[in-house]
Amino acid sequence: MREIVDGVFELGLGFVNVHLVVTDDGVVLVDTGLPRRSKQIERGLLEIRKQIGDVRTVLLTHHHFDHIGNVADLRQRSGARVIAHAADAPVISGAIRPEPKGMLPRLISRVMTAEPTKIDQVITADESEPIPGFTAVHTPGHTRGHVSYLLDRADGVLFAGDTATGKDGAVISGPKRAADDPAEQDRSVAKLATHNFEHAVFGHGTAVSGKAVDRFREFASGLPQ
Ligand SMILES: [Zn+2]
Ligand SMILES: [Zn+2]
Repeated sequence: MREIVDGVFELGLGFVNVHLVVTDDGVVLVDTGLPRRSKQIERGLLEIRKQIGDVRTVLLTHHHFDHIGNVADLRQRSGARVIAHAADAPVISGAIRPEPKGMLPRLISRVMTAEPTKIDQVITADESEPIPGFTAVHTPGHTRGHVSYLLDRADGVLFAGDTATGKDGAVISGPKRAADDPAEQDRSVAKLATHNFEHAVFGHGTAVSGKAVDRFREFASGLPQ
């Protein structure tokens, strides 16, 4: 586990990242990784002298199984409230089961599914503050209800989910194979570039630290007008 800035930790679970944020109101998890990995999240919590009961909030970026894999288990054991966007909530709660986009995601979805969970708080605004210190920015495209979160700490930490990916200090497009609308996903990167933040972390790929927003602006400047 790696500390990105004070109290913000990145835990790699296979090919996907889970983020643990220590706040005055307990631990906030941003996404929960691949299914059946909650033991690893628990070990990550222990590493920072926390336990499952310290998790008070789970912020979900979107409904894909590699991000919501342990949310049902964690919610049940910690009593944490789960927050997601209204457009993705019915998938996370199991009310609807869309056929995944792309052959590989379709195959994977047959062997690996995330247990559905109740959503305690739904995001509907384009921009809102679901919990103190975190701004939720609706960044559709990867999924309709994809949300990125901006934490007001260390001059701004962006949790970009799958809207973008960090690679060798640069910001590149997020994974597109499973994207609902790849062009809209890129426009959402441009939307994030209008905010201000010093650090950025991603669902996949490596964190960008130091003027991270400039890397988003570079990406946006290369988009078709
Ligand atoms: Zn995804
Ligand atoms: Zn993903």
